[in-house]
Amino acid sequence: MKLVKNENEKTQQISDKEAEEAFRVILKWMGEDPSREGLLETPKRVVKAFKEYFKGYGEDPKAILEKTFGDVEGYDDMVVQKNISVQSHCEHHMAPIIGIAHVAYIPKDRVVGLSKLARVVEVFSKRLQTQERLTMQIATTLMESLDAKGVAVTIDSTHQCMTMRGIKKEQATTVTNYYLGQFKDDLSYQNRYLRFIAK
Ligand SMILES: [Zn+2]
Repeated sequence: MKLVKNENEKTQQISDKEAEEAFRVILKWMGEDPSREGLLETPKRVVKAFKEYFKGYGEDPKAILEKTFGDVEGYDDMVVQKNISVQSHCEHHMAPIIGIAHVAYIPKDRVVGLSKLARVVEVFSKRLQTQERLTMQIATTLMESLDAKGVAVTIDSTHQCMTMRGIKKEQATTVTNYYLGQFKDDLSYQNRYLRFIAK
């Protein structure tokens, strides 16, 4: 599926078949019989699902933001996109992180198609993540690629490694924020952004 480094630092392609075999081993380790009818196709289906969960490794977020538009008659206030669904996986337990992201940017001269903001969230989400890094990666990519005056990103999510195992705090959500440029330097912008996303 993708290139990984082994101990000898050589890149090595892992085939779908090898990944399926690994899931067969995990099923056995769980105490299951991977040869019983209900599980025969399971490793194949899990590999297919994993390709979807982690498709962000094969995608370049900067390429998504390449096409921008200049014909916005000088619009220079913030563009806020709220409630973008986030489905990611934590890199410590490979457990789901489910939540929402809010993204804002202040354009300098050019704006980007609105769906592209959600696409950037999607690409970084579909990798193993920490919520902190996810928040920063979205923000810095938007800031650099759009040459924006400022960017703000907020993520509010539930970590299943906390709700389903370990400390088992079902109601706990985690909020992370990252501000760049005008959102960092000017509290009036930051406060307006926070008011928009609170509604
Ligand atoms: Zn975790």
